[in-house]
Amino acid sequence: MRDFPFRPRTGSSSLPDYLLNNSEGFIVQKLFNSLRSAVLYLDKWGAIISANIMAEELFHDEALIGKTVLEFLSGWDDKIHAHQEVLMVARTGVSVIGAIEHAFIHGKEHWFQVDKVAVRDETTGVKGVLVTLDDITLLKQQELRLQQSESRYRAFVDNSQDAIWCYSINPPLPINLPRQELIDKVISSATLRDCNHVFSKIYNTTPEQLFGMSFKETGTYSYADNIEAFVDNNFRLSTEEIVWRNHSGNDVCLQISANGTIENEQLVEIWGVTRDTTERHRYIDRLEYQANHDLLTGLPNRNKLKNIATTMIEQTQNGKKLALIIVDLDSFKDINDTLGHHVGDEIIKQIGPRISNAINEMNTTICRLGGDEFGVLLNDIKDPQQAQLIAEQILLCIRELFYINEMDIELRASIGIAMYPCQASDFSTLLRYADVAMYTAKQSLSSIEVYSSETDKYSTKRLSLMNELGRTIREGQLELYYQPKVSLITGEITGVEALSRWIHPTMGFISPSEFVPIAEMTDMINEMTVWVLSESLAQVWRWQKQGLDIKVAVNISARNLLDRDIVKKIKSLLLRYQLSPSCLELEITESIIMNNPDYALKILKEINDIGVDLSIDDFGTGYSSLAYLKKLPVKWLKIDYAFVINMLEDEHDQIIVNSTINMAHNLGLSVIAEGVETQEILDKLTQMKCECAQGYHIARPMAAEQFDQWIVEYSKNKKFTMPSINSDITIKRLN
Ligand code: C2E
Ligand code: MG
Ligand code: MG
Repeated sequence: MRDFPFRPRTGSSSLPDYLLNNSEGFIVQKLFNSLRSAVLYLDKWGAIISANIMAEELFHDEALIGKTVLEFLSGWDDKIHAHQEVLMVARTGVSVIGAIEHAFIHGKEHWFQVDKVAVRDETTGVKGVLVTLDDITLLKQQELRLQQSESRYRAFVDNSQDAIWCYSINPPLPINLPRQELIDKVISSATLRDCNHVFSKIYNTTPEQLFGMSFKETGTYSYADNIEAFVDNNFRLSTEEIVWRNHSGNDVCLQISANGTIENEQLVEIWGVTRDTTERHRYIDRLEYQANHDLLTGLPNRNKLKNIATTMIEQTQNGKKLALIIVDLDSFKDINDTLGHHVGDEIIKQIGPRISNAINEMNTTICRLGGDEFGVLLNDIKDPQQAQLIAEQILLCIRELFYINEMDIELRASIGIAMYPCQASDFSTLLRYADVAMYTAKQSLSSIEVYSSETDKYSTKRLSLMNELGRTIREGQLELYYQPKVSLITGEITGVEALSRWIHPTMGFISPSEFVPIAEMTDMINEMTVWVLSESLAQVWRWQKQGLDIKVAVNISARNLLDRDIVKKIKSLLLRYQLSPSCLELEITESIIMNNPDYALKILKEINDIGVDLSIDDFGTGYSSLAYLKKLPVKWLKIDYAFVINMLEDEHDQIIVNSTINMAHNLGLSVIAEGVETQEILDKLTQMKCECAQGYHIARPMAAEQFDQWIVEYSKNKKFTMPSINSDITIKRLN
């Protein structure tokens, strides 16, 4: 405390005699000057009679005596009012206590608490006014600062996007209480003291309604756990996101962080921020949904299928199998083009629910892969047959009429199936295989296909075979086998079909059904055909040398007809071996003709013109138009073995074979049946007036040396000449 030196004052600063003229006068004077407040004694008219040291210091003026209120309070906000008040106190004798007045003194701001006390004389009444100025500037400034910081805090709290709250702990809790007691007491004694509207909005009410409530009433489900964590974590909390059903029944995601205020080793309050992350989650969920779903149908998309399949593959144990079915609508472009995209979209939207109703399988994911392509992932499937049955159900449900815009629309689809793990060992291979199978189904019109590496143009085995095949052909390492064709009228051998064989040094026998399509993918097939032509004509030449007149049939691929020199090459080979063109026959498939009918027709005519016979191979598997068949210069029609093999058991096959024979005869063509595996089939074909037969029952394809032995055996049995078409033909199987 500041020591106020007593300065004996003469004249002005002393109190008037009537205040000092008594035994305590000295003490009063000392007190007067040692006061921490500035004190002025004014006469009834407001002029200063006395001022203590503090007043002189305050006003920086040692000559205050005689100045009026108006003069010395020149820096006062309202000096006239102050002056009037002094006069009023002097007149009425009623003091004014505790007025707060604001002033600038020598440019410095001051706040005073001012008392204006009437000084009375017992006889004459009010003598003067004692004005006490308590400088409360510091206090006032602190108060202002506090007010400002309070309003800044309020503004911050009220405008925050997050929920801000404060719980008081009443009474404060010593932080060294046993843990459980501390936790229990925090729960029981905390009450909400402050919060903003964001917080109260979570409870669908106003802050005022929540004040005074406990954690139980205002916390989330996990408040007890949160307080435990808060205590354990040294009175701090930062939660992971929690999902909480709010008072309006909506699930909200909240993230809470809190801080305890410790004073004197006691927990007095807990401040916290609760962030509502629901919107952010919704946004993230929306993004995730869009990334994983097809927007038109709401079905999972390719990306999602990949994730689901990859997870399933990871979890698949103990021989569990997955099947991926790819469904592709046939001619869907036509629907879009003719009926409009809105109809197309409507159909696409109906596919998912249809498949889902039709297969009714647990553990199934149906997704849209894009365009008119859908994927169905089957978990835990026994075998490809089971997947095939499901694929049939899918096919049937798609074939049911779609009724859109008062129109009945008929649709078909092609389906490919691939299996994990027996075919593919990862999702991308599974998808590719199912896709390959689907394309095979589309091309072969079979509707459903299970993946097979043989029909996969791009399988790894195929790619490596592709590399080797060229060299094998160039180095003449393919072999030719010959399979006889026999007349059902005479029993004579009418010729042989040359069939290529590839005995791979490490992979062994590779079927022509596997390597021919590879060769057909590039110009390799031209080299190969020239080699087969050359090799088989050389063999005919050798047979002729042995006295055997045997005609050879060589298979021709579509690409061969695009070789501009094909006719020239055939001519020069015939010339090289001095053979008549009638020694050679070319087998062409229907697809060769259909790919480019006019051009094919031109080349085939040229070939026919030089005297080489043509036959249509694998008849029934393509889609030849009769109109073209009629125009083609072919002599023979070969019924595909697929119809012949089962014709005795399958009535439909028999009808096809029979009507094909009749149709061919009507067109002036002769018929040869492939795939004759039994005597019964041979008999039936003879009855049907089929001219020729080829098949394992007569002989398997064989190498030239083997054929030489076979033909000797066959002649010994005198089966070359058949007496009449009705005779029983019995040909022994020799191999
Ligand atoms: P393809 O021209 O229809 O030949 C007949 C196929 O039927 C041959 O299969 C033959 O072994 C098989 N076969 C013959 N008799 C029977 C039977 O009684 N039962 C059964 N189940 N099958 C029988 P291969 O030799 O495997 O040839 C398959 C296909 O590969 C041929 O069908 C042909 O399209 C093609 N091919 C073979 N060699 C050549 C060739 O040098 N060039 C071309 N472009 N294609 C060839
Ligand atoms: Mg053939
Ligand atoms: Mg054939």
